[in-house]
Amino acid sequence: MTGFAIQGWCPGALRPMQSGDGLVVRIRPRAGRLSADQARGIAQAAAQHGSGLIDLSARGNLQLRGVTEASHPALIDDLRKLDLIDPDPRTEAARNLLVTPFADAQTEEIAADFARALTRAPVLPGKFGFVLDTGPAPLMQDIAGDIRLERDDQGGLLLRSEGLPLGAPVTAENAAQQAMALAEWFLAQGGVQDGRGRMAALIARGARPEGSLAPRVAPAPAQPAPGPGLQPQGALVGFDFGQLTAKMLFTLSGLGPLRLTPWRMLLVEGLKALPDLPGLILTADNPLRRVQACTGAPGCLQARAATRPLARRLAAQVPPGQTLHVSGCAKGCAHPGPADLVLVATGTGFDLIVQGRAGDAPQRRGLGETELDLKGLI
Ligand code: SF4
Repeated sequence: MTGFAIQGWCPGALRPMQSGDGLVVRIRPRAGRLSADQARGIAQAAAQHGSGLIDLSARGNLQLRGVTEASHPALIDDLRKLDLIDPDPRTEAARNLLVTPFADAQTEEIAADFARALTRAPVLPGKFGFVLDTGPAPLMQDIAGDIRLERDDQGGLLLRSEGLPLGAPVTAENAAQQAMALAEWFLAQGGVQDGRGRMAALIARGARPEGSLAPRVAPAPAQPAPGPGLQPQGALVGFDFGQLTAKMLFTLSGLGPLRLTPWRMLLVEGLKALPDLPGLILTADNPLRRVQACTGAPGCLQARAATRPLARRLAAQVPPGQTLHVSGCAKGCAHPGPADLVLVATGTGFDLIVQGRAGDAPQRRGLGETELDLKGLI
């Protein structure tokens, strides 16, 4: 397996991550929402203080690329005026909360409760996250989250630990409080070892919440994640490899408030027709939706090769319903889950993994980029 450096913490705005193209500044919009003013302000700040490239993360965050040590303070000042900056890195890191983009008013209130409770929560491992998947139907069961708020098939709320099929019933009023109690339980059970730990790993070791946190209710059946298109709340639009420019964000901000999603798409609130703008992915059958590719070289310091040109070239060869993941190293940032075909850069070509993850053992090694062709592989 190709080695990679494991980051035990998640970068934020106040604690940016160094990358091959400068600092990456991650913004966590509250409850995954951006007002039109905030979106416009981010676009202007990204162009002024960074490279103008903005990544959409699989946790519903925005990442501004190409920021420098010199421009970072002014960027934070601008973002603080937009109410997008937490008071300190600890508060920022604790607010690891992913909210469904199809949230109703009740979910929005619960999200605000969670955000408040998380400022008082015990210190949890860097990647430990909360998911509010409480829209009309559960859509985010494929999205990692250690403590999950979901609905049962009667619309009731349940709190579920990742790794367990059942959850504990909760109410809108006590959901945040019970979620924090579950986090305390995770810590008390020894869920953190050497500063790291995930709920699924603790559950796999046999630990089970008890009392009011005991799992006893099944979540409603999962629905497939949505593709680009119109939704009751507005227009869901995608971008090549989940990356957009400051100019595109500025344009979209003129159409309405935005909601972040874990599918690297944005929901433009209130639209009744898809925006006819170049550079948007507006249909589910766009071949670029079948490929995933991380930043790769030169943007990522750990990358062993460029990824997106290869993914773009091969996209049309990926049959509908199948997926190709091109990864700059075995860490597999763009797609932690399995894909039908994975190509991992090693520095001496690409390793091929069939139906697996970027870190899995490859079936073939050292494939040359220029002659790489999917015919016969997929
Ligand atoms: S998977 Fe891609 S983005 Fe992630 S560390 Fe490796 S090269 Fe960088």
